[in-house]
Amino acid sequence: MHTAYLSLGSNLGDRQRNLETALSQILQCEGVKILKCSTWLENPAIEEAGPNPFLNGVIKISVNLSPIELLKELQRIELSIDCNRVERGRKSARIIDIDILLFDRLKIDSAELTIPHPRMFSRSFVLKPLNEIEPKIVQETVYSYFKLKSEYKIRKMMLADLDQICRIEADAYGEVHWTRDNFVSELDNTVGDYNVLCKDDNEILGYLGSWMIIDEMHITTIATAKNHIRKGVAEALLIAQIFKALEQNIKALTLEVRVSNIKAQGLYEKYLFKRQGIRKRYYEDTLESALIMWTEDINSDEFQKNFRERLIELVNKSELFDQ
Ligand code: ADP
Ligand code: MG
Repeated sequence: MHTAYLSLGSNLGDRQRNLETALSQILQCEGVKILKCSTWLENPAIEEAGPNPFLNGVIKISVNLSPIELLKELQRIELSIDCNRVERGRKSARIIDIDILLFDRLKIDSAELTIPHPRMFSRSFVLKPLNEIEPKIVQETVYSYFKLKSEYKIRKMMLADLDQICRIEADAYGEVHWTRDNFVSELDNTVGDYNVLCKDDNEILGYLGSWMIIDEMHITTIATAKNHIRKGVAEALLIAQIFKALEQNIKALTLEVRVSNIKAQGLYEKYLFKRQGIRKRYYEDTLESALIMWTEDINSDEFQKNFRERLIELVNKSELFDQ
């Protein structure tokens, strides 16, 4: 027996009835049982499928067919509900659409069938109902999506990296920046966790440091090598650190950032860090003030939802990831 998740949608005719007809036909397929069914949610049509809004839902089934056999059964059902389906063409408005989202943990990439469904991670009309019936699956599958290309990796910072790190630090922060000694002592700090994103294990593209203090994670430093900016390096490092925080039962993340460092603040705000106050003249060198930022509980629905969406967005656009 296999487990699969299907997404159903309709934006023509009696949408609810179309979906329910599809459900009853799926129930009649030999070797298929419906285990869970989300509510039907209304969503605006995408691209050329408009103007009518869709009604969408997701179901969990157990099935003893192969993925291709299941696809054929579903296509037969689609055609029996909408005999003009083929003429209408892909992406158009439709009486019924049934897609296979996941099939066990299989990865398939053939001409007829791609699993996981390639657009499921960027479609809230799929993720929302899937989250309703199986929040764990959404997390796991989205998280398994975060895979750097084989030449890149995130690993612990080492003493041997410090020549490169100091150059990146100086380029990123100008005259006032951490010294080599600062990094040397941070690598010894028992609450510290310093990581680099590197290519072929030696060229460093960026780094991020943090301290873990009871159930809080403090981001202490972050920088990207100047010839690798705008590739999502800092963001990938931040996401990897948020994964760690989630694994280690951290409740919230915090940091101080120079009020003039608008770029870093933009990145943090994207991950729902909020401004909590100012420490006046915090930095000894220039007497610049620091902005204190905090996330809310990183297990909250709001944080998790945003985290998943940002992660998917980054993976889709950054050259650091397999597409
Ligand atoms: P849409 O991409 O909007 O669902 P269609 O349903 O018209 O458009 O496209 C169906 C085509 O997509 C079929 O030819 C089918 O072979 C292919 N396909 C690839 N992967 C999947 C999948 N996971 N589930 C359903 N159809 C898939
Ligand atoms: Mg389809």
